[in-house]
This record gives sequence, C-alpha cells and structure tokens, in this order.
Amino acid sequence: MVEHQLRRRGIKDERVLAAMLEVPREQFLPQGQRRFAYDDSALSIGEGQTISQPYMVAKMLELLDCHRDHCVLEIGAGSGYQAALLGELAAEVYAIEIVESLSERANEVLARLGYDNVLVVLGDGSLGYPPAAPYDRIIVAAAAPCIPEPLAEQLVESGRLVAPVGDRGVQTCIAATKEQGELSIQKNISCVFVPLVGEHGW
Ligand code: SAH
Repeated sequence: MVEHQLRRRGIKDERVLAAMLEVPREQFLPQGQRRFAYDDSALSIGEGQTISQPYMVAKMLELLDCHRDHCVLEIGAGSGYQAALLGELAAEVYAIEIVESLSERANEVLARLGYDNVLVVLGDGSLGYPPAAPYDRIIVAAAAPCIPEPLAEQLVESGRLVAPVGDRGVQTCIAATKEQGELSIQKNISCVFVPLVGEHGW
C-alpha cells in the first residue's frame, strides 16, 4: 500500500508514510471487509459510512502537516483509523463522531491498540469541541458545504485546517491557514466524501 499507492503517486512526507506503515488498517474494519484493508479503494465501515481510500487519507495528512507537539481535532472519527494515524503524528487527538455505535467501536479499537493520546467523543463536530480548544490542526473527514465557523474559531493563529468543501456530490479538498484571524484558503485535489451533518453541515 505504502509503496504502490502512496509513494508512487507522489506522497513524500516521511512522517505520514511511516504512520501508514505502522497503523494496522484491518483492525478498524468490520470482519467482512478486513481482507480488502490494503486495497486501493474506500471501504464500508457500517451505518452507511466509509473509510477513505488510503491515498486520500495520506494526501490530506500531508496537507495537514502535523507535528509531534500538536493538539489535533478530527471531525468524523468513523472507524478511528485516521485518528490512530493522527495519534502517531501528534501529541493529543480529539476525534468527534456523531454516530454512537461508530464512536464506541472506534474508542474500543484505539484503546486495544494502545492509542492513549486519542479520544473519540460522541457529538456534533460541526460545532468543534470547545473543551480542548484551541487546536494546532483541524481535519474534517466529511463533506462540508463551507468551513464551519466554530472550527475557524477553534484554530490557533498560524494553525492549519484541511477539509473537503463543496456540494453533496463532489468536493474540493482545501487547506486553510489562519493568518491574523482570517483563513487563507488553498484549493487542492477534488474528492468525494460522505456528507457532514449537524448544525453547520447539510
Ligand atoms: N475518518 C474516518 C472516516 C470518516 S467517514 C475513518 O478514518 O474511518 C465520515 C464520518 O463523519 C462518518 O462516520 C460520519 O458519521 C461522521 N460525521 C458526519 N457528520 C458529522 C458531524 N457533524 N460530527 C461528527 N461526525 C460526523
């Protein structure tokens, strides 16, 4: 997966590549999906939700540019896979998930694998997570109609936010940096994510 799907397609960040070698992706999938864990595709994680294709996960993590001392917020914890990768890259991770069964399962797997710097919280992540704010990095793993205002507020100055933004069918992956209180936005590749629901979602 790392050599063929990631390195060959231009993922260069060695920290991201090392994290993707480290985290056992199959552990985050329902039994029936495990044999496809390292395929070049998105997979179902139940409840109508999906875990992104490994390349998309790596691309977004590369754009996020996460450092060892960072406190990170993820919106849409889903299976907990990307949260585990963030746990490898950062100091502290808060991952918000709106579907209870998914948040419970993600917390169980993360605890079993020893990710004690990652916490999955049940709730509406479009509101951010004020108790641990501000965040050095924020990553959204569901398609948002626009960047939710609470997320911009909960980002530190010079902090970075990565999110798929667009309509329900197709989005653009954006990387935004907070400069003097305002987000400066750079557009990246197009992508397709499940919709962000909740107060600032669809
Ligand atoms: N990052 C995940 C995959 C995300 S799929 C992984 O590694 O497995 C997108 C997830 O976002 C879904 O689980 C969905 O339930 C969740 N979601 C959608 N809207 C949300 C919201 N407002 N707050 C928190 N989670 C949300």
